[in-house]
Order: sequence, then structure tokens, then C-alpha cells
Amino acid sequence: MAKQNPYRPFTPDPEFVALLPETKGSETNGLGETEVRRPSMVWWAPDMDAVSFGEAQKWFYRREPQDPVLMDFRTQRRAILEAPLPELADTPAERSPEEWTDALNRFIADGDCEMVGVTALQPEWVFEHHETDFGTVVMLGVQHDYDELKHVPETRGGIEVTRQYCRAAAAAKRVAGWLRMEGWDAAPVTGPMVGEILMIPPALECGFGELGKHGSLINPEFGSAFRLGAVLTDAPFAHTTKRSFGVDDFCSRCRVCEDACPPFAIGPEKQMVRGVEKWFVDFDKCIPFFADTSGCAICIAVCPWSRPGVGLNLAEKLARRRERDEVSE
Ligand code: SF4
Ligand code: SF4
Repeated sequence: MAKQNPYRPFTPDPEFVALLPETKGSETNGLGETEVRRPSMVWWAPDMDAVSFGEAQKWFYRREPQDPVLMDFRTQRRAILEAPLPELADTPAERSPEEWTDALNRFIADGDCEMVGVTALQPEWVFEHHETDFGTVVMLGVQHDYDELKHVPETRGGIEVTRQYCRAAAAAKRVAGWLRMEGWDAAPVTGPMVGEILMIPPALECGFGELGKHGSLINPEFGSAFRLGAVLTDAPFAHTTKRSFGVDDFCSRCRVCEDACPPFAIGPEKQMVRGVEKWFVDFDKCIPFFADTSGCAICIAVCPWSRPGVGLNLAEKLARRRERDEVSE
């Protein structure tokens, strides 16, 4: 029997509800649309006056706990974002694509991030009303400390989320700065107010993991306990390959996140969204609890893949099962 959910029943704050726009976020997101199109910004808008959920997003920020450690990470993150990038060097450095990738891996060895990947930028990942001339996305992943993350939605867990957003921003700035000093133009992309591109699709494409039922990535080593940063560039990196670990099939038999989500925002079926059938979180059910708890994140913390040491074992078991099934076919 499923464990009783300590956050149910959840009643949305009427003050927040009063700020919600008439058009549902799911509709703006393209739920039910069969044509591929560029995404529209719903939440995490850098310019909150430019989106229909802007007033609700402002409420989210007004509501934030004034914890000194949390505020310190916020200040650190702002300083990272405001620091100027190095000048673009006149002469682009020449390396083979593989040598570029090796050079990028140095950022893992130096502890800036735990994952790197590279893929070609696809137009449908760029938010409407935004343009970019860059053709390549370098993805960066930073791992959560699970022992801190597991405290979500309490402030202690939220501090860990902010700490990793801080690390992801620092890593994106460092990689972009390095590329510019090597003579290749580059622009950092940092969360949570990303602004320009979606980050999950390029992370899927470059092999960081698969999409879980909770709408976040799952990687065998880090589960869903990691955050993303990115760098847009034209430096000639070798692209990394998309990978499959059996997560999709696993999710179809698991309902841990469905049961743990207080407002029942995670459904058992995939949905068609902007021309792609995928696991889908109901934004309009999620966002009142998300805002009420300054970021929730219960679904990524409870996912069994996020528990240290579990994901790699699960991936191995699933690979062995696939091999057995292939032999017996
Ligand atoms: S909790 Fe279960 S269903 Fe949800 S994303 Fe994780 S593995 Fe998939
Ligand atoms: S973040 Fe949203 S979808 Fe995930 S558990 Fe919280 S309310 Fe549910």
C-alpha cells in the first residue's frame, strides 16, 4: 500500500490563486498540440511583466523564506551572473573535435561540474521571441548532495537546490569564458530563469539521461538529483550520443512520484505536447504547491534513481533483463 502523503490534502493559497491568469499554463505549454513548435515561456521568466504567470511568479519570490544561508547563495549567484566574460580572443584555437571534448572534460576533473555533453542546437528548443546564431549547446550537470536534497520541500532542501544552481551558473560562466579566451564566441545559459532555450531536450540529446514520469531527467549515476547549466557556442566539439537505460519502461511500472506529489500533478500516462508524446507534469496542478513551498522538488528527491548507489544497480539490472529478453525472442 502506498505511504500516506504528509502534504495531502493540499489547499492552494487563495492569494496565489487570485493572481493566476485565465489561460492555463498547460495550454500555453502546448498540451494536446500535434505540431512541433517553439516553446512559450510560462514560468521562470527573466522579465516577469512579459508573461501571463508573471504576477504569480512575483508572489513566489515575495514568499521565499528569508533564510540567511539561502540569501547568501542567492547573492553569490547574482555576483556570478553579473561578472563580465573575458574578451573574445582574435584567433580561434584549432583542435580536433575529440581534443575539444577532452579539453571540456577538464571541467569535471577540476570539480566545476559532474557531467558534460555536447549536441547541435535545434530551433524548437529556442523560446519564441528569442533568436540565437549559435549552433551548438554544451550541457553541464552538477550533482546534488542527496542528504541535503532529501529535506525538500523544507528550506534545508531548498538551500541545496539554490547551492547547485549557483554551481551550475559558475560552471557555465567558466566554460563560456574559457571558450572566449580560446577565440570561440560563447554565451552561458543558467537556471532557473533560463530565458533563451529549454535545457531538458538538449540534455536528453547529449546523453545525460532519459525523461522520467516526473518530467525531469533521470541519469543512472545521479538519478534526478542534479541541475543543469549550458553554454551556446560554435566551437567544433565532437557531439556526445543520446543514451537509453530502460528508464522509460521502468517509469511505466513505478508510481513513487505520482503518490508523493501533493497536488496530484504527475499523471500515469504520456501526453502529446508540441508534437512530441512524452511524460507530462500538469503545470497548473503543480504550481500552487511549488510556489507555496518555494520550489517543492519532492518528485526528484523521492525518485528511487536519485538515492545514491541505486541508479547504477537499477540500470545494470534493466540491461541484463533486456539482454535476456533479446535472447529469448
Ligand atoms: S519515481 Fe518512479 S515513475 Fe517517477 S520518475 Fe522516478 S522512476 Fe519514474
Ligand atoms: S514539483 Fe510539482 S510535480 Fe513535483 S512533486 Fe512538487 S508539486 Fe508535484
